[in-house]
Amino acid sequence: MNADNIPLGELTDLDKTALDKLAARQDAMLARTIAWSKVNTGSYNTEGLKTFAPMLAEAFAETEAEVELLETQPIESVKATGEVRDFHTGPVLRAVARPDAPNQVVLTGHYDTVFPKGTFTEVTDLGGGKFNGPGLTDMKGGICVMLEALKAFEAGPLKDQLGYRVILTPDEEIGNHASNDAIMAAARTAHIGLTFEPCMEDGSFSGARKGSAVWDVIFQGRSAHAGREPEKGRSALMAAAEFALKIEALTDVREGTTFNIGSIDGGDAVNVVPALCVVRLGARAPDGPSADWAQGEVDRILNEVLKRDGITAHTHGGFYRPPKPRNAAQEKLFGDVAETAKALGIKLNFVDTGGVCEGNNVFAAGTPNIDTLGVRGGRIHSDEEFLMADSLSERAGLAALILHRIAEGRIDAKAIKALMTP
Ligand SMILES: [Zn+2]
Repeated sequence: MNADNIPLGELTDLDKTALDKLAARQDAMLARTIAWSKVNTGSYNTEGLKTFAPMLAEAFAETEAEVELLETQPIESVKATGEVRDFHTGPVLRAVARPDAPNQVVLTGHYDTVFPKGTFTEVTDLGGGKFNGPGLTDMKGGICVMLEALKAFEAGPLKDQLGYRVILTPDEEIGNHASNDAIMAAARTAHIGLTFEPCMEDGSFSGARKGSAVWDVIFQGRSAHAGREPEKGRSALMAAAEFALKIEALTDVREGTTFNIGSIDGGDAVNVVPALCVVRLGARAPDGPSADWAQGEVDRILNEVLKRDGITAHTHGGFYRPPKPRNAAQEKLFGDVAETAKALGIKLNFVDTGGVCEGNNVFAAGTPNIDTLGVRGGRIHSDEEFLMADSLSERAGLAALILHRIAEGRIDAKAIKALMTP
C-alpha cells in the first residue's frame, strides 16, 4: 500500500519501528532531562547558560546535523534609573541537516529558565511518574523530546525527504531579543515550524496566540525645590501618571486587546520636583491590525503627554512577539497534527491563549507552526514545576510521526505554507 493512501491516524510499519526505538529510550531521556535540570540556566545567569550550551551541542551531535554555537548580540535593558545598559546572554545553538531536501522544518526551543541561580535547584521524584525540578517541563524535557524524535526519524529511510534547522535559544523567558534574528532566519527557510514548549496539563495544545508588546518609556522633566521655586520644576512623574491613566483607559476599547502598566519608577524626596520617571507597560493583541492599533495608541497618547511644558521622553520596545492568529494554514496544520495524534490514541485539543512563545516569532517569519510539542507537566514558572515522565517518549513519538508524515508528503508542508499568503 502506498503511504499516500494511509490515513494520518494509522500507524505504518515505519512509525512502529520509531515508536519502539523511542520507548526503549524512555529511561535515558528521563536521566538526561534530570541532569540538564540540575544545571542552572536562569535567563540572567550568563555563566550557567554558557556552561550548559556545550552540553546541548554535544547532545545534538548525536543527530546528522551540523551543530554550531552562535554568539549573540547584547540586549538593551532600561534600568529604573533610566540608564540603558547592555546585557550579554549565552549563545544560540543552531543545527542544520540536509538544507536541500524537498521538505524543510524549523524546530525551536529555549534552554533558559525563569529560575535565577541558587533559587530552585533540587530535582525530586514525587512518585507516580511525576518529577519536580527547575526547567524539567519548561523546557529541558521538550528539548529531549525534539532530539530523540530527530534521531528516531533519521534512523529510518525517509530522511532524504526532509531537512531541518534547529534553533535553541538562551533568552525565550525574557523575550528572545538576542535570538530573534536566528529564529527568523531559520524559520524563513522552512515550510513548517515545530516548537517544543510544554503542552497544557491535560495534554492540550495552544491554538491561536496573542501578540505581546513591552515598552519602557523614560520621561524626563526638570527638578526644582518644591517649596522655594516649584515653578521652575517640570514633574516627570506627573507626565508618567497622565500617560498611565490614559493607557489603562484603552483596555477593551478594541476587543481582545489589553494593556497593563507594569511599573512606575521615579521621584525621591517630597520636597523635590521629580525630574525622571520610567514607566514599563505591556500590551496583548489578537491579530496584526489590533497590534498596529495598539502601537498607534501608545504613540498618540505619548504625543498628548508631551504637550506638557518641559517634558521629553524616549521609548524602547514594541511588539516583540507579533500575534499568531488562526488562519487557513494554522487550521490545516492543527487538523493534520490532530489526525496524526489519533495514531497514538491521543485526542488533541487546540486551545487559544493570551500567552506567547517562539511560535509567534516563527509565524511572523511566514511559517505555520505547532508550538506545544513538548512534555506534559504543570505549575511551570513556580518551584512546584513538575514533569510527567511518560510524556517524554510519548511526545517524542508524536513528533517522530509528524516528521514521517511531512517527509512522505501525507502532511503536505508546501501546500500548508502556501496557505499563509491568501
Ligand atoms: Zn518555555
